[in-house]
Amino acid sequence: MQITEIYKSLQGESTYAGLACVFVRLTGCNLRCSWCDTEYSFYGGKRMGLDEVIAEIRRLSPAPGLVEITGGEPMLQERELLPLMQALIDDGYRVLLETSGERPLENVPRGVVKIVDVKCRGSGEGDSFRLENLRALRSDDEVKFVISDRGDYEFARDFLALHNLAGRVHAVLFSPAFRHDARGTRDVSHCLVDPAELAAWMLEDNVPARLGLQIHKLIWDPALKGV
Ligand code: SF4
Repeated sequence: MQITEIYKSLQGESTYAGLACVFVRLTGCNLRCSWCDTEYSFYGGKRMGLDEVIAEIRRLSPAPGLVEITGGEPMLQERELLPLMQALIDDGYRVLLETSGERPLENVPRGVVKIVDVKCRGSGEGDSFRLENLRALRSDDEVKFVISDRGDYEFARDFLALHNLAGRVHAVLFSPAFRHDARGTRDVSHCLVDPAELAAWMLEDNVPARLGLQIHKLIWDPALKGV
């Protein structure tokens, strides 16, 4: 499969935030979100076989441990990715799959925790979510909305209610979008919507979701790769 990078860092998002994790970033994406922070993964990378990828993961962190498959959009390489995820599960790893929600997810192996985006309009890729993926969600999965403004918040709030997401998955995450060109200072001034404002909206509406911050962008320079 085509790999941009494999590295160990702290998990920055989801309910696994703060835990040590090996990240496997697959190359290529068919979307172009306006606030995307991994454009460097769209092209290039290097070809690696299944055994090579597993060996590198084991070198960085022997099982059991946390492995996140991310991108780009990893499910574009489904044919090679599905056996990799199954092998990691069989090895004893906890496997997270971070995906845009646009690719079919029904073949993802049981035991993999899917962290599925539903793109809001502010991303420029609204309407990309594949509604059939709602049927593929399991109780330990998580659904994430990255929010740029009040309109995105209202879309997320209403989508959550319409599809009873809180009753389907382990967590629904509302995460303020980070400015595309964020660099230097490590604080929430880079967020497109003020987290305090988003928190107030969520409290006002009693939304059954968690406010999520990308903690890796508060720990390290938001422009750093491989963290
Ligand atoms: S789906 Fe992810 S990798 Fe692709 S453009 Fe959007 S944020 Fe970037």
